[in-house]
Amino acid sequence: MPFPPRTPASDAFSRAIYRHLVATNAPGGGVNRMMITVVTAGGTVGLPSRVFIGFSGGIAGGGVRAALTALAATPIFNAFTTTVLPFAGAQQLTHAPDGPIAAAPGHFQVTQGRHCAEPRALMEAAASGEHINGMSTLWWGNNANAYPHPAAGLPNGVGGNTIFAAPCAICAMNADWVMARASLKRDAARGMQRFHEAPF
Ligand SMILES: [Zn+2]
Repeated sequence: MPFPPRTPASDAFSRAIYRHLVATNAPGGGVNRMMITVVTAGGTVGLPSRVFIGFSGGIAGGGVRAALTALAATPIFNAFTTTVLPFAGAQQLTHAPDGPIAAAPGHFQVTQGRHCAEPRALMEAAASGEHINGMSTLWWGNNANAYPHPAAGLPNGVGGNTIFAAPCAICAMNADWVMARASLKRDAARGMQRFHEAPF
């Protein structure tokens, strides 16, 4: 299963986040350079009920995180259940493994620590038990977005690229694995048992 698509709703939240960070002069250097992933869940594709905001990075970007925590309490966002993820400090692509899907050949090809935003946001959204219906990732930093999304988006003012980012090569390679994990996590949150053909 591929990652959830960018939707007008997930894009709208991402644009709001970006404008908020610009308006509040949030820092954009060092540990405050990051991918910020918005995952929408629940409700409908056009009007989700929950928003999950995850960050990339191995070190907490305190300035950006504080700005987004404040944003979660403002109009637009406070109309939804907005979760700004705590810093996970994960050394792996996702949270610590807690699902029974083994790292099969060709999947989860991580040989060193990764600190990606997408899996974090997806896993947290899945843990809510809600249906995931959209995902957008934006680049925040005082340098150019190195992973510009091929679809149109808002210029980020640095380097001329869109603010929207595509998943990195490692995330793209592991999309099926991440989404299978997310599916298991969602089922577990709903108290459901599920059988899988893959041996583990
Ligand atoms: Zn990634």
